[in-house]
Amino acid sequence: MDDKELQPSSSEPELITKVGSLQELLERASGVRAVVDTELGDAGLAESIPFPFLALVGQKQMKLSLVLSLLNPNLAGVLLIGPRGTGKTTAVRSLVDLLPEVKRSLCYYGCLEEDVEAGGIDAVCPECAKKYGQGDPLSRMEKVRLIELPLNATLEDVVGGLDPRAPANSRMRLKRGILSRADRNLLYVDEVNLLNDQIVDAILDAAAQGQYTVRRGAVSATYRSQFTLIGSMNPEEGNLRPQIMDRFGLRVLVQGLEDKDERLEAYRRSRAYRENRRAFSAQYAPSTRLFREEIQASRENLSKVKLSDQVAKIGLKLIEKLELDSLRAEITLFEAARAYAAADGREEVTSQDLRVVAPLALRLRRSTYIDKYIADQSTETELLEVAVNELIPPQETEEDQQNG
Ligand SMILES: [Zn+2]
Repeated sequence: MDDKELQPSSSEPELITKVGSLQELLERASGVRAVVDTELGDAGLAESIPFPFLALVGQKQMKLSLVLSLLNPNLAGVLLIGPRGTGKTTAVRSLVDLLPEVKRSLCYYGCLEEDVEAGGIDAVCPECAKKYGQGDPLSRMEKVRLIELPLNATLEDVVGGLDPRAPANSRMRLKRGILSRADRNLLYVDEVNLLNDQIVDAILDAAAQGQYTVRRGAVSATYRSQFTLIGSMNPEEGNLRPQIMDRFGLRVLVQGLEDKDERLEAYRRSRAYRENRRAFSAQYAPSTRLFREEIQASRENLSKVKLSDQVAKIGLKLIEKLELDSLRAEITLFEAARAYAAADGREEVTSQDLRVVAPLALRLRRSTYIDKYIADQSTETELLEVAVNELIPPQETEEDQQNG
């Protein structure tokens, strides 16, 4: 590596203006060179500017799985498995720029115009019923949000419960929970392996069905809850029950970048982002906009994508060979392959699509894989400790010396 490469590139990034397919964009955008430019200044909105998805270096499997989950809600989410510091959270946060704006309720109870259209005027709160009658909007268009589930959330926080603010005989006695607020948003559950099983079950049920029902005595309500679910876990901090693991559509092992050039480029970009989020993000804005449009178009095309019996049989054979019992194995394999074909602008799944998505859809479907993975991780931790202790012994403090 020569010295020149250590300096941030001064050339313009290769802006992408035309694209053949979403996959091509994903491939090409990762190669966009970051330009460090601190002259544009920052207007103070830095906190709200995520790291651009297209500026993420490497991590192809993680990026592919996240994009597939945006394209196909039938995938029931993605689980990112890996140690800290591998960019999982950065990648998840960057997804908010890849989805179109969504309709957002203006009311505490989350009433929307389509609630009236679907369930009549009684489906919304009295205040919204009045507004609707007067022709006033119940909602406005807003950017997709990232809802992060706090680790200390209770089941009631997650699904909702009785609302102490509502009068006892009111229709709206139930308060919406996090799952309802996640509707049309991204729901990120970090450290999912440390959450209570009941809560994880509730989240996965809602993710699979796109809605959920809460019953509290005589009161019940059904909430729309269509969200893109992303879980992450560090297996060193605890296991995830195989039954829970199996319910996530795609599973990705996220490891640190191995390639030196990639590591350097990742460092450059993260420094450029930290120094001026606005300017850095602006470089990727045109490509991000194109990518968002591609994702929107692919989402709309998904329903047209067909899976022939011939290709389905190949998939089933693969599952048989791997001795996977879970029915979710084939559902996820086929749904992921359909999303992949849609991303490529095709209406027919090929066996090559299965080939690409199989590692994401079929990994960790057997508990033995999980056990082995955890075991490998602890072996590595031991190796590390030995190597570090050998080469960099801990510094003795004065106290140690006195005691020793
Ligand atoms: Zn309302």
